[in-house]
Amino acid sequence: MPIPSPQPQTPPDWRRQLAQAERDPQALLQRLRLPLSLLPAAESAARLFPLRAPEPWVRRIRPGDPDDPLLLQVLPLYAEHETPAGFSTDPVGDGPAQSGPGILHKYHGRVLMITTGACAIHCRYCFRRHFPYSESQAGRNDWADSLAWLDGHPEVDEVILSGGDPLTLSDRRLGTLTRALRQRPQVRRLRLHTRLPVVLPDRVTAELLALLDGPWEVVWVIHSNHAQELDEAVAAALGRLRSAGHWLLNQAVLLRRVNDSADALEALSRRLFQVGVLPYYLHLLDRVQGAAHFEVPEARGQALAAELGARLPGYLVPRLAREEAGEPAKTLVAPAPDAD
Ligand SMILES: *Cc1c(COP(=O)(O)O)cnc(C)c1O
Ligand code: SF4
Repeated sequence: MPIPSPQPQTPPDWRRQLAQAERDPQALLQRLRLPLSLLPAAESAARLFPLRAPEPWVRRIRPGDPDDPLLLQVLPLYAEHETPAGFSTDPVGDGPAQSGPGILHKYHGRVLMITTGACAIHCRYCFRRHFPYSESQAGRNDWADSLAWLDGHPEVDEVILSGGDPLTLSDRRLGTLTRALRQRPQVRRLRLHTRLPVVLPDRVTAELLALLDGPWEVVWVIHSNHAQELDEAVAAALGRLRSAGHWLLNQAVLLRRVNDSADALEALSRRLFQVGVLPYYLHLLDRVQGAAHFEVPEARGQALAAELGARLPGYLVPRLAREEAGEPAKTLVAPAPDAD
């Protein structure tokens, strides 16, 4: 009798999607039927910060549209070579704020753990494009250094897993960390700052939910900048999180040509709520070198925030905020009607 051969070990889908993310500018342009005249700039800017765009994201980009808001977040452009005054490589002061290995402790009662340098997508505007991740790996020795830091700070009751993107870690690595955190009753809230539910919704598995479970509230701060990102697969992934009793918030970055209109921001808030997420922050761009072409002037941001306030119920209006080195919290920016 033939012996049934064991099923070949296929990695969970999200791992394959992560591994096979598009890294080649030419392939991306061809796939999206975009003019190859964009290629030299894309190749040269990709040398500053590599292109990375996984399939489930690329699928949501409108082919043939060089102004697509999802394309603009991932396509390297020549403008990234510009180095205007005021744009630095560490605009939010993360270098000096490092309190321990992979630990950023800037705000009272909560601490941010840089769990990995890896991301599933490379967002061209990201302030971490120059961050020296290799020097801030919290994961060494099964997170021993970060956990020792936490044990020395019993007033910290919220642990924020960040990166990079914490959900690019394997379940095994994440599980080691959450098991250790579960033994520390000081941790009342476990927060994840991640783009994965939006970028790779298949990452939200039953196994992931099980390893995040604990004697704490789980708070997700996802990162979506445009309603077009939130398709049905994303909605389903977020639904799984809501069914598990997790809190879902969104932070967006105000980005020129991506979402710098009241219509785009209103649609984002409405769509977020439809999929179970409350708008939290709308960040003014961190002034990082290579991202100047994304900047929206602060006064314009204030005008947009005022317009959103006039159009939406208060709970759908995100807080306009800016990150300033050395401040005890994010700096809130008051909405204001447009001066012109
Ligand atoms: C943004 C941030 C937080 C979280 O701030 P909240 O206002 O609580 O969302 C915490 N730590 C660091 C280092 C941060 O940059
Ligand atoms: S840290 Fe967040 S914003 Fe920056 S590249 Fe990674 S996923 Fe994008």
